[in-house]
Amino acid sequence: MRHFPLFLDLQQRQVTVVGGGEVALRKVRALLAAGARVTVVAPQWHPLLAAEQAAGARLGQVPSTLPAEVAEVLAADWFREAWFVVAATDDVAVNAAVAAAGEQAHKFVNVVDDAARCSAIVPAVIDRSPLLVAVSTGGTAPMLARRVRRDIELLLDQGLGRLAGFFARCRERVTRVVASPARRRRLYDHWMDGEVARLVRDGREDAAEAALLASLESAESGFSADGHVTLVGAGPGEAGLLTLAGLQALQTADVVLVDRLVASEVRALARRDALQIEVGKEGGGHSVTQEEIHRLMLEHARAGRHVVRLKGGDPFVFGRGGEELLCLREAGIPYAVVPGVTAALAAAAQAGLPLTHRDLARSVRFATAHCRGSADETDWNSLVADEGTVVLYMGLRQVSRVQRELLTRGRPADWPAAIIENGGRPEQRTVITSLGHLAAAVRDLAVKSPALLVLGPAVNLAGALHWRGAPPVRFPAGRASGHADAATAA
Ligand code: SAH
Repeated sequence: MRHFPLFLDLQQRQVTVVGGGEVALRKVRALLAAGARVTVVAPQWHPLLAAEQAAGARLGQVPSTLPAEVAEVLAADWFREAWFVVAATDDVAVNAAVAAAGEQAHKFVNVVDDAARCSAIVPAVIDRSPLLVAVSTGGTAPMLARRVRRDIELLLDQGLGRLAGFFARCRERVTRVVASPARRRRLYDHWMDGEVARLVRDGREDAAEAALLASLESAESGFSADGHVTLVGAGPGEAGLLTLAGLQALQTADVVLVDRLVASEVRALARRDALQIEVGKEGGGHSVTQEEIHRLMLEHARAGRHVVRLKGGDPFVFGRGGEELLCLREAGIPYAVVPGVTAALAAAAQAGLPLTHRDLARSVRFATAHCRGSADETDWNSLVADEGTVVLYMGLRQVSRVQRELLTRGRPADWPAAIIENGGRPEQRTVITSLGHLAAAVRDLAVKSPALLVLGPAVNLAGALHWRGAPPVRFPAGRASGHADAATAA
């Protein structure tokens, strides 16, 4: 190990930054954030440094040139008073003089972007204060450090700092009540894996403290496990469109109840030894009933497990997430919900089809043509209520009906329409057509589930703005959308 890792307490301590450019500005900001008293030494400074002055930076030193001689640096007040010096100029001679003076005076000097001259290097930091993770390659491969930092950023959830703060506050009390360190360690593990940590993450520190105290009291009698359920929206299938919160839930899951629509790429992100149970639904015919899903959730949560209910898209958009929460609420099982990118958003993004667009569509409506196995429940009138965009989920089988109902209610046959198959995935297929040709397009192009029907003038933009996967197909071929022959449609 070439460097000894160390964290400095710079609160109210003098740190001097030599240099007044953009690099210096970054260092000044970071040092001020750590509570240091920062003096900036430069012949002139970046305009934004003035703002830092308000935050406490002293811009008092304005030499006309920076000293490039070691003796001059050694004599300067700004050098002698500093606990730590950062050389951030673009003048190699100045940086070298500051570094050499540091050697002589036994002060640590960080020379930005010059690892060879540094007696102190600044790591890449993942900040979940009070938890800090510092990453360094000893200045040899900063790009690698940045990547590692990014990976760790993804791994450590944002609530971790809050958690660390919470346990720091409780620590003394716990130590007083529980004498044995081994026992304390087990208790902390229990709290961090369970309800206490979950409450802190949800911002309910009072409840978390109550739960912690309750289990402290019963510490002698051992502790009961506390199961809970997280409803997670998996997005359209690509791992990149899963949220970080969703990823973190998957990585702490004991049991994952997965819908069929969820791609294997997302499922693969679950904790390796989590039990995965398929509760897929095939089209209309359910392979596992909703009641069975409820039963499984309750059974595993009651056994003290963290159950992740992983659903395609967003759990609250035609996902029966509400029913599942009602069931959990009734059973008194704690739960959390992580939203997902719903199919309409993912499909539209990839097709370059802005769901709302000034002048073309001022509202967007998500509807389904398939409610509890019956098309009767769709409120067709609401779908022609305004000029906004309508996205129909589960509309493929009912496409003839959709077409008929909307035409009957006065939508013109040349009303722009699109069909998006496999939305949000590399193999997405977008068909641009018109209401009058909708059913024929589904039939002739053999559109497969999962697919969305999108209606409204904003559809016309998709031809020009698509950016990924195959370009949109026009149906009938060669015909510009929005100008379908009304006679064909009727
Ligand atoms: N909760 C899900 C929707 C479940 S309903 C979500 O928020 O996306 C199932 C319907 O969603 C399918 O019949 C289909 O119409 C639509 N759907 C789901 N994933 C899709 C995808 N990748 N592309 C297009 N439509 C999709």
